[in-house]
Amino acid sequence: MTNENSKFRLLLVEDEPHIAFSLILNLEAEGFQVIHSATGLKAVQDFAAEGPFHAIILDVNLPEMDGFQVAKAIRSRDARVAILMLTARSTENDRLQGFDAGVDDYIAKPFHLKELLARVRRMTERANLYLNKSSPAGHEEITVGGIHLNFGQLLLTHGQTSNAVTKLEADFLRELMEHPGRVVSREHLLEKVWGLSASSETRTIDNFVVRLRKMIEVDPKNPKLLVSVRGKGYKLENPLIKS
Ligand code: CA
Repeated sequence: MTNENSKFRLLLVEDEPHIAFSLILNLEAEGFQVIHSATGLKAVQDFAAEGPFHAIILDVNLPEMDGFQVAKAIRSRDARVAILMLTARSTENDRLQGFDAGVDDYIAKPFHLKELLARVRRMTERANLYLNKSSPAGHEEITVGGIHLNFGQLLLTHGQTSNAVTKLEADFLRELMEHPGRVVSREHLLEKVWGLSASSETRTIDNFVVRLRKMIEVDPKNPKLLVSVRGKGYKLENPLIKS
């Protein structure tokens, strides 16, 4: 069967045979091309040898290297590929560790297949938008208060520093950069960026913000640009428009 998804290559990293089997079956039924790695080390090798990939579905508990180590190794080669982590662990610390290693999104085991497929579809749709070198809003690049984001190159520049960003990071920043100085609600961000309903997984945003602050803040622990507004959401301060 040929369909829109057939141009997308996924790397599935999962050591439990029955879960891997079921995921491969269902992802292939959706039209995706799937390469399967059953260990962490094999995943890093496959990523180098079989790529490029559009998205990675990555289990945490793996033989040889765990999911965090795999995410770090892959991120050091490719700053942009989308990584969805499958985890039974859902403590704050594990999430932080994952986001620190460059993970874009989490789904906790046991997961509903429909939800996992929805997240994968979302990641590949986003990959497609950026492959076409334009943001959904039609901007090629955007500059706010000294922060410059190029959607085609997925490059975030602040002062003298440039960082490659993931598509999800770019989407998140776009939501804030298009409304500088205004509070964007957590609900809006969860829905627009992650496709999640407001009731779920709000910690995802917090952990993600920690990662972005490291790229744009002089002192990430004392943020001046990407600020939290308690109980409401986040905003990007625009030094040129003082509120
Ligand atoms: Ca496992």
